[in-house]
Amino acid sequence: IETTEGQQKHDLVDMTGLLEELREEVANAHPERTLRLQIDCREKIRGDYRELYSAVSNLVYNALKYSPEDGAVTISASCEDGRYCLAVEDEGIGIDAHHIPRLTERFYRVDDSRSSSTGGTGLGLAIVKHVAAAHGAQLNIDSTLGRGSTFKLLFPMAAENTGDMQAC
Ligand code: ATP
Ligand code: MG
Repeated sequence: IETTEGQQKHDLVDMTGLLEELREEVANAHPERTLRLQIDCREKIRGDYRELYSAVSNLVYNALKYSPEDGAVTISASCEDGRYCLAVEDEGIGIDAHHIPRLTERFYRVDDSRSSSTGGTGLGLAIVKHVAAAHGAQLNIDSTLGRGSTFKLLFPMAAENTGDMQAC
């Protein structure tokens, strides 16, 4: 089978459009939840749209799943140290620090009894890690037990960007 994957990775991706598409999907699936979208950077990145969509949606569905119904989820896009920073923040159950290094392992779940009401396989963050690696991105996890979590993806900017880089 011929694969065009390598080529697709080099597409210029409009992350703002991707985030708006995801917001619409989530609004339809979970109209009762508050999902905020804060766009402060509209630079494009190089990558594969479907892989990036899958990574960000895994983070967003986790944020919804591991939060109470009235907890807001915020997706923000910003420029950080010349990189495109995509953050998904929740006001959920949080994660104890000692679990964080293992979270992206396949099938790793923090506490099956605690999260049994939500269910899951433990593959979502392994996918996020895989997509991040394929895009030269860094994944940062910051969490406080009982308060909430922030998952950040830091992508290299596409060289073509000429727009607002001064503002980054
Ligand atoms: P799947 O994504 O395969 O349906 P999952 O959500 O359990 O299952 P991951 O997305 O890989 O698996 O997450 C691994 C574990 O990390 C989760 O089981 C949960 O314990 C913890 N976790 C992930 N995201 C959050 C979050 N936003 N807040 C609190 N805990 C989280
Ligand atoms: Mg998940």
